Amino acid sequence: MDRRRFLQGTLAAPMVSTFALETRAQSWPTRNITMVVAFPPGGQADLAARPVALALEKILGKSVVVDNRVGATGTIGIQTINVIAQHPAQFEVFALTANSNADGLFEQCLQFHPSYAVLLSEEAAEHLRQRLKQAAISTEVLCGAEALDFVSSHPKVDAVMAAIVGSAGLLPAISAAKAGKRILLANKETLVMAGKLFMQAVEEGGATLLPIDSEHNAIFQVMPNKRTSNLENAGIKKILLTASGGPFRHATFEELAHVTVKQALNHPNWVMGPKITIDSATLMNKGLEVIEAHWLFNAKPEQIEVVVHPQSVIHSMVEYIDGSVLAQLGNPDMRTPIAYALGYPDRLQSGVNSLDLFKTARLDFERPDTEKFPCLRLAFDCLKLGGNAAAILNAANEVAVEAFIKEKIGFNDIPRLIEAVLGASDIVEVSTISMLLTTDAESRQRAQEWVAKR
Ligand code: NDP
Ligand code: MG
Repeated sequence: MDRRRFLQGTLAAPMVSTFALETRAQSWPTRNITMVVAFPPGGQADLAARPVALALEKILGKSVVVDNRVGATGTIGIQTINVIAQHPAQFEVFALTANSNADGLFEQCLQFHPSYAVLLSEEAAEHLRQRLKQAAISTEVLCGAEALDFVSSHPKVDAVMAAIVGSAGLLPAISAAKAGKRILLANKETLVMAGKLFMQAVEEGGATLLPIDSEHNAIFQVMPNKRTSNLENAGIKKILLTASGGPFRHATFEELAHVTVKQALNHPNWVMGPKITIDSATLMNKGLEVIEAHWLFNAKPEQIEVVVHPQSVIHSMVEYIDGSVLAQLGNPDMRTPIAYALGYPDRLQSGVNSLDLFKTARLDFERPDTEKFPCLRLAFDCLKLGGNAAAILNAANEVAVEAFIKEKIGFNDIPRLIEAVLGASDIVEVSTISMLLTTDAESRQRAQEWVAKR
């Protein structure tokens, strides 16, 4: 049994029949990949996109959804496009989506000629329509969050790269799951907010989930090739989730109180969007990833150990009951997990340089300091609490990160705010997405009030 079926089995063993798994495995497409990703025009993205566009002009039918942003990062998107550009015969672009930047999306439409482009605001969408009309491009422009759901679940779509940042990525990911797509999941907030409900949607929709987050992708790569319903049955003792430790690994708690936004945005190893970069500095990113690992691999909290590994060369490890520890190594470059998921079960060239172990020279490991970085402890607490706790954590964290970036609160206020919101909230079971969205809205409101009083 191959690994993709193992993952599905791990997630959905009680309800997914072997027959269904095998049928899906045989029916997976090797072309016509549809992607909801983010990439900015200019620089690396343009370089990557141009050859893709040329190749796509030769291919009939469009089948990629791409989320675009201008002058900003859209880092997963850039890197996805970069990988696609290396394999133009295998991928087709169906749609491009963006939050608000019509001009950026226009540039990308010029290059990719997708069937659809999606923007969140009507004003931006109208602007894009005008520009496309002048350029005689037939891409249809849609607008609003429902349009994200539409393209993510469109019958012509084979695979969705879910790389919208934050809770905005939840509903399109659920739509893709219900529609049985192959989901390349970068948006970890989906699993943090709605792990149980999202996994149910994956199972019921017959979707296939491939983790893009480098740690989870690494774990997936070193998991056994057989289907199992829990880690014990697969002979796994624990998951060792590596963390770089972020830019403030050596700072004291007192020093953390005075760090600037610029310092926090300067990650030592990875180039990422601003939200995840701040999350990495607080170790909340690792906390979110602990919750993500729980849902992806059916891992209990005590089966997940966070290991600070400053070089970010080992992307995570799995310890088996016989004492073996399997690791996936590579340069810290998201194109590796992206290429893995795009090509799965085959391997694709990613453009990532060979790992030079002589240059790396050493691999260090430390225990995380949860006194100094309380966000990691809070995430473990929420995982143990269950119910809507992680959704509250996620909402409060999103508000806190935004407030920190806008210099309304200090770095150490981020965990304070989250703890205050958790303390003021009722932890209850959630059985519907609408309940979760209510939790999300209430938690944001509480968090905003906390910021306003600061
Ligand atoms: P970026 O900030 O670089 O890009 C996020 C994209 O989402 C932007 O294009 C943004 O558009 C778009 N977006 C934001 N809000 C909305 C909305 N309401 N509707 C539609 N689109 C929206 O983030 P990253 O690429 O770094 O991260 C994306 C996701 O992947 C995150 O969940 C992150 O945790 C995860 N991830 C990222 C990694 C990385 O290396 N970057 C590694 C592992 C996981 P706009 O600019 O217009 O707002
Ligand atoms: Mg990660």
